[in-house]
Amino acid sequence: MRYEGGVTRLPSRPDLNWKPDGTPVASAFDDVYFSLSDGLEETRNVFLKACGLPERWVDTRHFTVAELGFGSGLNFLGLLDAWQSSEKRSDAWLHFVSVEKYLMSGEDAARVLNRWPDLSDLSSLLLKRWPILTRGVQRIDFPEIRASLTLYIGDVSAWLMTHDFKADAWFLDGFAPAKNDQMWSPELYPLIAQHSAPGCLIGTYTVAGSVRRGLADAGFEVSKQPGFGRKRERLEARWPEHASVQTGPDIYLTQAEAQEFEKVVVIGTGIAGASVARQFADAGYPVEVIDREQKPAEGASGNPLGLVMPRLDAGDTAQARLLIQSYLYALSYYDRLAPDAVTRVNVHQLAGSEKDKIRFSKLLDDPPLDNDWLAANQERDKGLVHHNALLIEPSSVVTSLLDHPKIELKFGNNISHIGDLRSDNSTLTLFVIASGWQSQPLLKEAFMPIAGRLGQVEFSDVADHSGNKKSEAVASGTYALKHNGKLLFGATFEPIDLQDEPMVSDAARSENLGAFYQIAPEWAGEVDENCLQSRASVRATTPDRFPLAGCLFETEAASEALDPLRHGAPVTESVPHFPDVYVLSGLGARGFTFAPLMAASIRAMALSEPSPLARPELEAVSPIRFLVRAIRKGN
Ligand code: SAM
Repeated sequence: MRYEGGVTRLPSRPDLNWKPDGTPVASAFDDVYFSLSDGLEETRNVFLKACGLPERWVDTRHFTVAELGFGSGLNFLGLLDAWQSSEKRSDAWLHFVSVEKYLMSGEDAARVLNRWPDLSDLSSLLLKRWPILTRGVQRIDFPEIRASLTLYIGDVSAWLMTHDFKADAWFLDGFAPAKNDQMWSPELYPLIAQHSAPGCLIGTYTVAGSVRRGLADAGFEVSKQPGFGRKRERLEARWPEHASVQTGPDIYLTQAEAQEFEKVVVIGTGIAGASVARQFADAGYPVEVIDREQKPAEGASGNPLGLVMPRLDAGDTAQARLLIQSYLYALSYYDRLAPDAVTRVNVHQLAGSEKDKIRFSKLLDDPPLDNDWLAANQERDKGLVHHNALLIEPSSVVTSLLDHPKIELKFGNNISHIGDLRSDNSTLTLFVIASGWQSQPLLKEAFMPIAGRLGQVEFSDVADHSGNKKSEAVASGTYALKHNGKLLFGATFEPIDLQDEPMVSDAARSENLGAFYQIAPEWAGEVDENCLQSRASVRATTPDRFPLAGCLFETEAASEALDPLRHGAPVTESVPHFPDVYVLSGLGARGFTFAPLMAASIRAMALSEPSPLARPELEAVSPIRFLVRAIRKGN
């Protein structure tokens, strides 16, 4: 997508004025963010009460509240307070899904939220993980209180047209309709209906005729109730228990229906398997993780050091957003779950080609992230600096993720067919295949073109023990890292047959050395070539270099359903698939960046929770995309 008329890729912050009591006013809308009487009491009276909360979540495993207009996060805070202090199942999870076109800075949000000192524990939790300014969906987890925020940064209509979820309750909080007709357009109400679960309840402070009529015409039962503060009335609405909205067939299998299951079996203990296992364990399911090796992270996730840095594209495509969203989620995920195995670092990214230089200058002209994250590299011409990237100790990260009372590890078990596991099981089980390049035999009935790439790295202790223990990272296709007295560089990316075991080679060593002296010549004195060690592993890659994260299908049956695509006709039947088998593979050279968010996405699909990804991003990683593309091309 290109932004016309001087609109930048980086979303705008709101222009705020402040009332004497500290209530923010958006100057573009000339309206307050919440009632001058008491914002938190308004949340409780207008939104929670209308939606029957907290009573309605007492018996549910997960409950989803959606909101128009995230603003300062005060409604979310009030909701979290009710969630925390109310009776509910021990495995219950709260999802809050919201949209915000003009994200406040963390400082402004703190200025608002600090007005309620009784909620300071919750507000400091929220402010510590305050959303980052960038377009698209952002998932922020609060597992300590069993809740997640899924925020779409952008316009409400783009949000509801591209992000699929079903809300049990809606807070309609988008400024006064008379002051914001872009939010309250006639197209809004059918979209709200489409995103409402049976029996969904809605609360809003406005009784504007257009809102009442819009909701009623979309099928809601609407009623006026006594208002809060200076408002005489407010609205409540209910989506009938048996109402439904027709949607077309889901050809990318992005909305797999929830299955009842009692446990999860994950195959693979690399970063993909560990991330999936942790997601389901946090959700409250017992998880068995199986590996053919004798300890975790023996494959591509087992290098002594690793780097999590962004790949930034010049255009705002689904793929570009996916890379940024995965990166941001991975950073906070590892900070939280493996703090001793990760270190923040500034990465100096050098241009490896003229094409890189052009891309970098476009990125600096119209950046997707602000200058807390991205800057020009003043030291080396035409390069970038990524602030806040992450140096990681990969196997410690994996071990930390797997360290959970609900996770059981089973080593030395080579699974060659999912059917073998299915027949062993009397409990309802969800399977996730996450064994990197070794996933292929398990996926052979499905058309998923996974190819192997051999990645070799070189490492040693830093030869110069001058006491300089600063962590450093340089990248330019390949990378060189220094951390904790260790130095590592590489990696190669050579095609390898998936039947072959990975072997280190002298040719790869000299390729790595050549690249290293080019990107980090100033570190040359710190390397003793005779003391270098090598490690090689196979990365599972896909032709478009994006992961496979979603439901398993069988090529022949799925092709039949997708056949109309050959003639450019719409698909009318649902696409057959295995709702109890998911895949997370093909993470290529970005396993530690992609895995946490892809695992969250698989959990959301399997449990019918709101997805952390919008539909275009889900389609970009859907395992069936290569089959869809092949059929469209007439193959
Ligand atoms: N719920 C918020 C809170 O707890 O602080 C207050 C919401 S405030 C009344 C309305 C919010 O809607 C503002 O933050 C505003 O930036 C946002 N907004 C306005 N128009 C929008 C649009 N077209 N798309 C998305 N968000 C929009």
